[in-house]
Amino acid sequence: MAIQAPEGTRDLLPDEAKFWAHFKATAADVFGRYGYAPIETPLFEQTELFVRGIGEATDVVSKEMFTAISGQNLATLLDGGTVKAKSRLSLRPEGTAGVVRAVAQHDLVPQGAAPAKLMYAGPMFRAERPQKGRQRQFNQVGIECLGAEEPSVDAEGIIMLMRFYAAIGIPSEATRLLVNSMGCEKCRPAYREAVRAYMAEHASELCDECNRRAEINPLRAFDCKNPGCAAVMEGAPKITDHLCDECREHYGAVKGYLDGAGVSYVEDPTLVRGLDYYTRTVFEVQVTEGMGSQNAIGGGGRYDKLMEEVGGRPTPGFGWALGYERCVLALQAAGHAFPPARRCDLFVACVDDSVRSEAFSLVQAFRDAGLAAEMDHQHRSLKSQFKLADKLGAAVVAVLGPDELASGQVKARNMRTHAERLVDLAAVRTLLARFGGEAVGGGTAPARIEEVFDVGEE
Ligand code: AMP
Repeated sequence: MAIQAPEGTRDLLPDEAKFWAHFKATAADVFGRYGYAPIETPLFEQTELFVRGIGEATDVVSKEMFTAISGQNLATLLDGGTVKAKSRLSLRPEGTAGVVRAVAQHDLVPQGAAPAKLMYAGPMFRAERPQKGRQRQFNQVGIECLGAEEPSVDAEGIIMLMRFYAAIGIPSEATRLLVNSMGCEKCRPAYREAVRAYMAEHASELCDECNRRAEINPLRAFDCKNPGCAAVMEGAPKITDHLCDECREHYGAVKGYLDGAGVSYVEDPTLVRGLDYYTRTVFEVQVTEGMGSQNAIGGGGRYDKLMEEVGGRPTPGFGWALGYERCVLALQAAGHAFPPARRCDLFVACVDDSVRSEAFSLVQAFRDAGLAAEMDHQHRSLKSQFKLADKLGAAVVAVLGPDELASGQVKARNMRTHAERLVDLAAVRTLLARFGGEAVGGGTAPARIEEVFDVGEE
């Protein structure tokens, strides 16, 4: 059998790859209106960045990273040699740590400056067990806002995400927005201790993993899929009863802004999310139907301590990421199909090989004028060329034969109306030369092509 793509990866074939480009362009358009500008960071970073940033005890870091050791002699390593920290590299499992590292490294938020608003789109890598909606390489679009701790930043970021889903075709009725506050360094330790004590009382009802979590990171037990653990955790202390005044006020303000924008949400005091760096606001967007257990299409929150964790100057931050593949599943569940990737405004058909070079030059002239033109390269019969033109969705087919060429003409057929007429080739070329250089969008191309051949309905 021919070599297959690695397990947990997926090829984006042309129709979908084109949709991914549209997805990214829509994101850039929507987020651009909120002041976000693109940033590109490496696909791999020093492993230490993720260990310090995301947290050693998280599943993402402890179990799911693709890590390699570079530039060191394997024989020395097998001999018990040590690995230099700089040589331990991991493919990025998420985008925030890399962006925060770049902001610190390039001092993008000098003291007193307005916040840096950054967006990214690209692949992330997690060595998870592949299943529908869960891959080992998947694409995320994400934003990070660094340098402001005000609740309006959180609210604006969440509103912008919900507007993006709508723009891409996922209506708000199909989604559920869950929000919570995880408190801060002042109020969370006491809360964490309350959860740990509660879990200790229920140790016999919890799974081994949760009993281990109780010691390292008790809040993670809220995410356990074991029904017994879930039942116990239902009765656990709620963070919202333990927030300090500042955190309660911050959370209240975020919700107030969401209310004002007409964005509905559900408060979920058990929402803790899988990464260690969150403080205060956390949220997740789920699709309500047709997605099974992998129904989270995006999520994020505030991370006011992350910058310090990776060695930068204290800088508050807020960000989120959405999963592209899950959005596609949500769209498919709602009955959307990818529009065809190829566009064809005009097909030039050859009656025989004697006109081939003229056809080649004509096709080129159309392309240079901003129109999508195609011809047959494989010496098909005229009938097959029409079939191909039909398959490509050509608006007009120009039939070039030796007789027409001798009289400087081409026969154009409007594929929609089936109207046909002989058109003067020199006039076509003059008109095309006028179009040349002017950008033409998909919307105006059909009008232009009909203008060229003047074969509109008669
Ligand atoms: P996270 O960084 O885990 O908060 O993920 C943010 C979003 O990325 C999720 O809501 C999912 O839509 C998507 N996502 C996370 N992990 C995967 C995965 N393994 N495969 C596909 N999508 C994922």
